[in-house]
Amino acid sequence: MRFLPVLLGLSALVSARCGTQPPSEHVKSRHRYFLEKEDREDSGAVTRDVFSTTIETYVHVILTNSTGVNTTSLPSQILQQIDVLNDNYYDTGFSFDLVDVTYTRNNNWQQISYQSQTEWEVKSSLRQGNYTTLNLYLGTIGGGILGFATFPDDLSSPREFTLDGVVVDPNTLPNGKAPYDLGITAVHEVGHWLNLFHTFQPGNNDPDLPGCFGHGDYIRDTPAEAFAAFGCPRVRDTCRGVNETSNAYSVPGTDPIHNFMDYTDDRCLTHFTPGQVRRMQNSWVEEREAYQAGGSGLPFRPVGRIARPGSGW
Ligand SMILES: [Zn+2]
Repeated sequence: MRFLPVLLGLSALVSARCGTQPPSEHVKSRHRYFLEKEDREDSGAVTRDVFSTTIETYVHVILTNSTGVNTTSLPSQILQQIDVLNDNYYDTGFSFDLVDVTYTRNNNWQQISYQSQTEWEVKSSLRQGNYTTLNLYLGTIGGGILGFATFPDDLSSPREFTLDGVVVDPNTLPNGKAPYDLGITAVHEVGHWLNLFHTFQPGNNDPDLPGCFGHGDYIRDTPAEAFAAFGCPRVRDTCRGVNETSNAYSVPGTDPIHNFMDYTDDRCLTHFTPGQVRRMQNSWVEEREAYQAGGSGLPFRPVGRIARPGSGW
């Protein structure tokens, strides 16, 4: 009981910090469109010999007088991070080519919290490339947040284009800070950048609608999950019985705690499903490759991953 208030506090933080707004009607309609398109096509992900693309990747390191990272080991950790991305995305057909690493020291950029003035200053100063270019920012986010990303959106405004990218805490890189020290946070956040929702969607993003109900993550082959999982539970099943089938797009089964789009520890996260791979591939072609600036300026929708309560973060 001693920890209950803390856990409740962090739970509220998770709800408040990780995609508090349910997806807009436009984003949901795009996922329904992809779902119908994928249903009409053959099931299963397109294999690497059919879909293969290399993503030009820029890493931007933000240093301040309070940045708690080892700048000596950072260059090799960044190379390891790119390897972790390539290893874990190998079966998806996506690969990552590190074009450049930039280092910026600015004591005014202590925390790159989303929707902050700092986030705007960082990204408008450093962003490189087009909508198919991955900009990975390494900086302190604050509030226990390990990382956050933006979804692709075919109606993104010029401002949203500037904010497009992935931010992760440098301590989440390989050889960082346990239990998030295998570089899987970046794998998870790039999953969002490639248009995947959490497996427990709407879950933490909409406390009134656990992931057992509603539209879920719009992926058919991920079992429904009420809320994010932490640690590495041996078995977890938060949507049972009728709840299991109340989620419109799911398959029966225990919670997908080993799916990269859940919140468990790095060592616990191992894979994407074929349905997720197909969604990333289709979104790549129709959202990122087809993007043209000048949309309607829909609200920026950040998503994020948060440190486990009591993990020491
Ligand atoms: Zn996330």
